Amino acid sequence: MRLEGKVALITGGASGIGRATVEKFVREGAKVLIVDISLGSAQRAVAEIEELGFEGATAATQADVSVYSDVEAAVQRAVEVFGKLDIIFNNAGIAGGKPLLEHDPEVDYAPMIRVDQDGVYYGILAAGRQFRAQGTGGVIISTSSIYGEQAAELAFSYSAAKAAVISFTRSAAYELAQYGIRAVAITPGRVATPIINQFSEELKSTFASEQLRNKMTEPEEIANVVAFLASDESNVINGTVVHVDDGYSVYKQRLD
Ligand code: NAD
Repeated sequence: MRLEGKVALITGGASGIGRATVEKFVREGAKVLIVDISLGSAQRAVAEIEELGFEGATAATQADVSVYSDVEAAVQRAVEVFGKLDIIFNNAGIAGGKPLLEHDPEVDYAPMIRVDQDGVYYGILAAGRQFRAQGTGGVIISTSSIYGEQAAELAFSYSAAKAAVISFTRSAAYELAQYGIRAVAITPGRVATPIINQFSEELKSTFASEQLRNKMTEPEEIANVVAFLASDESNVINGTVVHVDDGYSVYKQRLD
């Protein structure tokens, strides 16, 4: 129960890493506002959590994280429903990409930046303002990616957005420490969620082989780390990146 009495907002909370984190947070005693662009999926997640016996521990709200007023309204909704906000997990994201020279900027660059980059900035801004107003401090965790730290095929825009998430985290930690606010980014490797399950078995097997235990990561394994980062037990982890990639970032050395 290391999150007992805490209130969290999780974007992209209806699926994958976000959905697993909702459940983990609730099991650790938190109340969670599930924020997603798909209201139906977010409401289904609430129903599933209630079936597990956690009546009233979650609520759902629709928001497009690429729209600041939506994110601000979601933060206010968390406060209305649960009385305050202690933790934001800026996790909603989209993936995909084309070779750089085949880009149509409006299709292959702008939407990715709006969701994966601007969406995280908006979460930091809206939650940061709420934490300051409460005078309670708070924790900001944001989902970057292994691609935020390296170049990869078909990932020009995604890598840019995910690199920005790391930069935002550093700057937010630096600037907001005065309000008792902490910021951390995570870099998942290959996690078995709908974003990745759409790929062929062959590609998934290659993905697995790039991690040191030769398997894809389960979303619950990421959720365990996020719960630790959201808790006071990790107070000295601030402004930095926590690699949750099962050793992906050293796999090339392993091959050498
Ligand atoms: P997912 O598709 O299962 O979940 C993403 C969720 O975000 C969905 O519920 C979706 O509806 C929601 N969403 C998408 N656009 C949104 C928007 N504009 N506003 C609000 N909600 C929106 O994917 P996932 O794998 O759980 O991804 C979660 C995060 O993890 C993403 O930021 C992704 O880039 C990152 N990530 C995933 C992997 C992986 O291997 N799965 C690896 C590295 C990073």
